[in-house]
Amino acid sequence: MPFFIDVIVPLPLEQRFTYSVTNKEHELLQIGMRVAVPFGKRKVYTGIVAKIHNTPPIRYEAKPVEELLDETPTVTSYQLKLWKWIADYYLCTEGEILKSALPSALLIESETVIEPHPDYDINTIDEDESLNDSEYLILQALQKQSLLKISEITLILDKKTIFPVINAMAEKGLILINQELNKQYKPKLQKYIKLSDHYSSEIELPGLLDSLERAKKQKQALLKLFSLKAQTQKPISVKMLKEEAGVSESVIKSLVEKSIFEEYFIKKDRIQYDGDSSSKKIILNEYQSKALDDIENGFNIHPVCLLKGVTSSGKTEVYIKLIEKVILEEKQVLYLLPEIALTTQLIQRLQDYFGDQVLVYHSKYSVNERVEVYRHVLDGIKGKIVIGARSSIFLPFQDLGLIVVDESHESSFKQFDPAPRYHARDAAIVLASFFKAKTLLGTATPSVESFYNVKQEKYAFTELTRRFGNVVPPKIELVDLKDQQRKQKMTGHFSETLLNAIKETLKEGQQVILFQNRRGFSPILECNTCGHAPQCPNCDVSLTYHKHNNTLRCHYCGYHIAMQTKCMACGSTDVTTKGFGTEQIETELLAMFEDKVIKRMDLDTTRGKYAYEKIISAFENREIDILVGTQMLTKGLDFRHVKLVGVMNADSLLNFPDFRAHERSFQLLVQVAGRAGRTDEQGQVLIQTYNPYHRILQQVTTNSYDEMFKEQLDERRHFKYPPLFRMIKITFKSRDLNKMNEASDWLALYYRQIFTTNVLGPEFPAISRIRNQYHKNILIKIPQEQSLAKTKAYVKAGVDKFKSIAQFRAIKVVVNVDPY
Ligand code: ADP
Ligand code: ZN
Ligand code: ZN
Repeated sequence: MPFFIDVIVPLPLEQRFTYSVTNKEHELLQIGMRVAVPFGKRKVYTGIVAKIHNTPPIRYEAKPVEELLDETPTVTSYQLKLWKWIADYYLCTEGEILKSALPSALLIESETVIEPHPDYDINTIDEDESLNDSEYLILQALQKQSLLKISEITLILDKKTIFPVINAMAEKGLILINQELNKQYKPKLQKYIKLSDHYSSEIELPGLLDSLERAKKQKQALLKLFSLKAQTQKPISVKMLKEEAGVSESVIKSLVEKSIFEEYFIKKDRIQYDGDSSSKKIILNEYQSKALDDIENGFNIHPVCLLKGVTSSGKTEVYIKLIEKVILEEKQVLYLLPEIALTTQLIQRLQDYFGDQVLVYHSKYSVNERVEVYRHVLDGIKGKIVIGARSSIFLPFQDLGLIVVDESHESSFKQFDPAPRYHARDAAIVLASFFKAKTLLGTATPSVESFYNVKQEKYAFTELTRRFGNVVPPKIELVDLKDQQRKQKMTGHFSETLLNAIKETLKEGQQVILFQNRRGFSPILECNTCGHAPQCPNCDVSLTYHKHNNTLRCHYCGYHIAMQTKCMACGSTDVTTKGFGTEQIETELLAMFEDKVIKRMDLDTTRGKYAYEKIISAFENREIDILVGTQMLTKGLDFRHVKLVGVMNADSLLNFPDFRAHERSFQLLVQVAGRAGRTDEQGQVLIQTYNPYHRILQQVTTNSYDEMFKEQLDERRHFKYPPLFRMIKITFKSRDLNKMNEASDWLALYYRQIFTTNVLGPEFPAISRIRNQYHKNILIKIPQEQSLAKTKAYVKAGVDKFKSIAQFRAIKVVVNVDPY
């Protein structure tokens, strides 16, 4: 009987593809294994076996698979189930999900690039007897050419099936796969020291010591090495020997040079934690204990619970206690954080408590590190707790007991580009349900949709209303900029009130945080003679002035030119900057506080791998007096000595063209405010605004979440927005404006036939051209009583039909479900 398998290939194609397998292969095959499959004329991809059966495909002849790549499945049945759910719900393909779900090193394809592993000494290949012929040939080629494509290797080895060779070489640590994007990563190697082989017995010792009579320090190091060796069977690191013997590195080096010592290296398990764990006990206070009880009782009725706890109430400790119980049942825990907040602070706190049970999964980590975490989760033995950003919902959990979604109101849980455009919070709830596990959503400022679910009794709920240790909440005040301007009390962008408060705080030796939701120096450079402002040639936005490198830059495509002193249109020298960003605030501060340390935290200053952590730890260590930053500052950071938080301008937040602008402003302002006064002294928050009577700002100062929620919900009901209506957004992108207009009109008309007035647009978004592509949107609003499945089927049918129209072929269509 012939056997076939259906394979998910990592391409944006709707269907799975059927391949034939031999009887022998069939015996070894399991669902979830990786296979190398031919695709198109010459390409080979790594795909995942989704089904094994006996039915040949109808429309094409099944090609044979090239090779099985696994002995046991790499993908679990739970993962396949989640992919299916995401594909159906978010209207994307399983192939697109596969591509973001697996670390790319597990998905080699013809275009994959390999390079020699930096740990492998390529000069020794001629003597290395552990290499087989293929490995030898590939390494030899890598000696001449540091990067090789899989397609090139096919030629070198002159055989078709090379994926297994490549996989094996990667596992042996001979090569790196797809590493080019992560150049900055260096494997961590620990240097160890031992006695050279010819001195390894103690009989030699007296003679050796004599020879070192003149070198006291070296003798000391040698004696120490002997005594350490006697005490412990473990390898002795250079670091340890230095400390124990009280000698410098150069002493050890001299001994190496004399061939008395020998260095060797051991690859440090990158995800190993070597602090002492569980040294810290946590005792919950009465409010935290009650919250924990509420959560556990809530879980008896609902699979999801929302914990609303003011900033600094000690939510993390509640999570920890909950996690501890799940771990005791030998189950796995996923701790989800918004991308930007993956700080060392939180990871450290969890590691202090759980030790090496904690794994971290992060897109800034190299592909190899991610593969390690992936394998550990799949084994289900080491590391029961995974901390990660949204993509960690794709890890191969075996027995999940709990998902904690920290800062669950954060919009970065939703992926916007590329597909799959999923919301990790919502997908996490679905994932948990497969395991009958629980999900805890934690935040100080719940999203309107999550709180609505509480009100609808879909989620359990509990609250922490006090800060831990009875620290008083900060005093939040609004500063009327109009008034201060009228009274001429502004210095640059600082009101007298804010400036005095900064001076006061610094005098007390405390720290200040200033928030401005825009980076760069100023967003607009305008000519006072003709009104011209330099625009990006590729996008429909003005260029932002960056002072430190004297450029005008586009924040959408990266286009940049030198700063212009004359108007580019009329040549006038009378040009002014308008609006302001973090850089300008920093400049003004530097002029006013010459003897203080002022630093900036935004996208421009945090590009390197550890740049973000460096600023944070410098601030923690009080090496910085004033920290200016964008919303990066708001993410769950716990700084001890911040007494004052200033918001430079709240209006730009409130005026953002989005139905959630008000909700977002509330969340952001409450979160920034929460950074102030985390210890005994009461903190102070000053919010500068031209609209001090704005409802949202009033609600922030009085901490009226419930009122904000009620008003927002009324508005959403009235204007047909989530959570009362669902939304699907269809975006068209094209360089050809006319064709795009025509195409979007066509699809809008198609949808109006069924959804009538619930179709909005097509409309240009606020920025209608990015990277020379025009954008236009259609928004479909879905009333609660309307079948979601049928709606999506119709939406999809529309897109399919659209794609079959030849004249629209060049137009890109993007479907985004829950686009917020
Ligand atoms: P949140 O996450 O709610 O903003 P945190 O968990 O960061 O609050 O807690 C605020 C501070 O209070 C932290 O420094 C934390 O270590 C401390 N804290 C909270 N609960 C406890 C506890 N039960 N025992 C000791 N310290 C606690
Ligand atoms: Zn001009
Ligand atoms: Zn641009």
